[in-house]
Amino acid sequence: MDIAIAGAGIAGLAAASFLRRYGHRVVIYDQLDKPAPVGSGLIIQPTGQAVLSALGLGEALSRRGARINRLFGKVAKSGRTALDVRFDAGGGETFGIGVHRAALFELLFSAAMKSGAEFEPLHEVTGVAACAGGKAVLEFANSRHSPPYDLIVDALGLRSPLIERENAFLDYGALWANIPLTENTAFMKNTLEQRYEGARKTAGLMPIGSIGGYNGDGAPLAAFFWSLRQDQYVRWQVDGLDAWKGDVLALWPALETHLETLQNPEQLVFARYAHHTNRTPVEDRLVHIGDSWHAASPQLGQGANMALLDAYGLAQSIDETADIGDALATYKQLRQRHIWLYQIISQLFTPFYQSDSRLLPWLRDTIAAPLSQLPPVAAVLSSMVAGTLGAPLGLMDRRVADPSRRDAVQRSSG
Ligand SMILES: Cc1cc2nc3c(=O)[nH]c(=O)nc-3n(C[C@H](O)[C@H](O)[C@H](O)COP(=O)(O)OP(=O)(O)OC[C@H]3O[C@@H](n4cnc5c(N)ncnc54)[C@H](O)[C@@H]3O)c2cc1C
Repeated sequence: MDIAIAGAGIAGLAAASFLRRYGHRVVIYDQLDKPAPVGSGLIIQPTGQAVLSALGLGEALSRRGARINRLFGKVAKSGRTALDVRFDAGGGETFGIGVHRAALFELLFSAAMKSGAEFEPLHEVTGVAACAGGKAVLEFANSRHSPPYDLIVDALGLRSPLIERENAFLDYGALWANIPLTENTAFMKNTLEQRYEGARKTAGLMPIGSIGGYNGDGAPLAAFFWSLRQDQYVRWQVDGLDAWKGDVLALWPALETHLETLQNPEQLVFARYAHHTNRTPVEDRLVHIGDSWHAASPQLGQGANMALLDAYGLAQSIDETADIGDALATYKQLRQRHIWLYQIISQLFTPFYQSDSRLLPWLRDTIAAPLSQLPPVAAVLSSMVAGTLGAPLGLMDRRVADPSRRDAVQRSSG
């Protein structure tokens, strides 16, 4: 098939590589003049790791990223443990990989280009339209449009103009920055660490490996985040960095030397968090993947992993049958249950960590945290964080599990 992918983000680039592998012609369109990742770091969970391994990028990811064995958070004032999830609580050697967005992007972009996908920069997508022969075109700003395609994949993210979306933005977002992670750091190794004051203030630090070179050389970095209400962002800009550093250090004094590396407000990016689920992920000749289908606050660290699973599920469904309608129905069926499950979990959990509520963080610290250490609860929480609740790969991993078929497919796509 001739397939247009709108959006060169995590979902679009992964989908391009998979679809090329199964022999389709793929053109990726993005608004940017050159491909670029936005933001700081993220966690690739075991689900996302499995998909990246299926693309042959597992080892490169391990070299570039940093292993995360545990999520740990304390209430700043009392020192009480409010969050302690170990990836291996359910048994087995399970872990997350913290990675800089630029490193992940570079891996995915170069894989997509090597697979033979074409890239068209400077194309701002504004719409999609049906055309003769049952095909569809992408419409661009300045009244241009693409050639006809058999299928359009919307991987334009949360702000996709190809979806109908009510206001999806949450009250809280966060400031993000990259800071060097020195060897003699006071922080726990291989851990995403957080400090809380109620649910209004959270500071977090996550090892993300390095961004230098494909060999994984370069200084180790951490992603630092500070929870902030969206309506406080202007106040933060006006108050200036020193006032803010005072707030952060009151919550987490051990950050002092790390904060010294932040000298300019431009080193911090404010990310608005959002929650939305598109009710029509599949339309005529149009399919939505990644954040354009579902977006959630990054508390559970699933968005990029969901995007990778979507890309994988879509390519497999298309490979199953020559009929596009059937393929898209299979894709929806493969992904829907897992997506709904995590959208609900995210909606339930987020206010315990980011809200103006006094009750919810109290429940979190006094009841939920001790309960979470009981072995069966700990195992469920570890699976929830790993993204494996609902067994999303169970239905899809036939080809990963069958190397002979995978090799044959790779040979056939050159
Ligand atoms: C601060 C923050 C922290 C996060 N942390 C995590 C984490 O730890 N783990 C995790 O799994 N997820 C995390 N996420 C979520 C994750 O980043 C997203 O779920 C993921 O990037 C979605 O991928 P995508 O490909 O669907 O969309 P995107 O990555 O947003 O890519 C969309 C692409 O489309 C292009 N585009 C957009 N509009 C147009 C247009 N009109 N025309 C042409 N091109 C366009 C953009 O330039 C971009 O290249 C985090 C998100 C944020 C904001």
